[in-house]
Amino acid sequence: MMERSEGIAEHPAIWFQASACSGCVVSVLNGVAPTLRDLIVDQLAPGHHVNLRFQPTIMAASGEVALEVLAAAEEAKEGYLLVVDGALPTAAGGLFGRAARRRTAKKGAHTTMHERALELARNASAIVALGTCAAYGGMHAAAPNPSGCVSISEALRQAGIEKAVINVPGCPPHPDWFTGTVAQALLFGLPGPEDLDAAGRPKRFFGRLLHDLCPRRGEFEAHKFAKAAGEPGCLYELGCKGPWTHADCPERQFNGGVNWCVGAGSPCHGCVEPFFPDISCPIYKKIGLEELPRIAREETGQLTAVPRPQRAEEV
Ligand code: SF4
Ligand code: SF4
Repeated sequence: MMERSEGIAEHPAIWFQASACSGCVVSVLNGVAPTLRDLIVDQLAPGHHVNLRFQPTIMAASGEVALEVLAAAEEAKEGYLLVVDGALPTAAGGLFGRAARRRTAKKGAHTTMHERALELARNASAIVALGTCAAYGGMHAAAPNPSGCVSISEALRQAGIEKAVINVPGCPPHPDWFTGTVAQALLFGLPGPEDLDAAGRPKRFFGRLLHDLCPRRGEFEAHKFAKAAGEPGCLYELGCKGPWTHADCPERQFNGGVNWCVGAGSPCHGCVEPFFPDISCPIYKKIGLEELPRIAREETGQLTAVPRPQRAEEV
């Protein structure tokens, strides 16, 4: 962190896009409060400006010029916030995901997303894994995972690099989950273990069971289930994974608070969970009622452990 002349703290950031669909970028760009302008031009939090130096989707530069910007950002003495978006392919030497041509190597040699992410992570002052692919592997690591995609946490673990990663999952993540996590870190410092859940997510956004927040919960208890898309009633019979999913979607809602999956008639797919998508698919297939966990709270108000749903062949 360094100070601007007018007393605003400047926080350099590098946004590295790996094996991803760009949906996480689009979701964050759609943020309403704060807006994209607040995020990268004005102040994300009072007195704090995120100096987003490298973001391939929205930066004007491309090719060699963009890579020079990245190299300069990487050498910043004050360190930088690294945002990783997407999973990291490791099979076949990582060649399923090339990041750029390596300048110092022989002509045609490439560096991979996996190598580049580890290089950037080594010097980062903080790392945010944005989206379920970066946080847990997500769609890109779905079985049989021929490209050997892993999350940034797993890549760091395999490389023996000890760096804390804040997971902000979602397919895509709500923009507030990202900007709120970064703003809180700027104002109050990096979250401690007490601020994160077992899956490395900020409890502020992911600390409660979606099923507990759902306006259709009463219909679940009364066994009033929708039998087809568009019908009123709880969507459990249509494959809703809300009973296993931790996120505040029912309260926060997407597109500036307009709606969310269940509100639009679609079952929750559990897109913020490490089990997405392998265990939560087929998306529209119900998980057996007998497998439903007990959903209760301890006296402390903490959620009890919710068992991971299992596929039939695992039971
Ligand atoms: S199963 Fe899904 S639709 Fe039904 S109450 Fe839970 S979260 Fe809501
Ligand atoms: S409702 Fe479920 S599938 Fe939809 S965004 Fe939230 S966690 Fe993801």
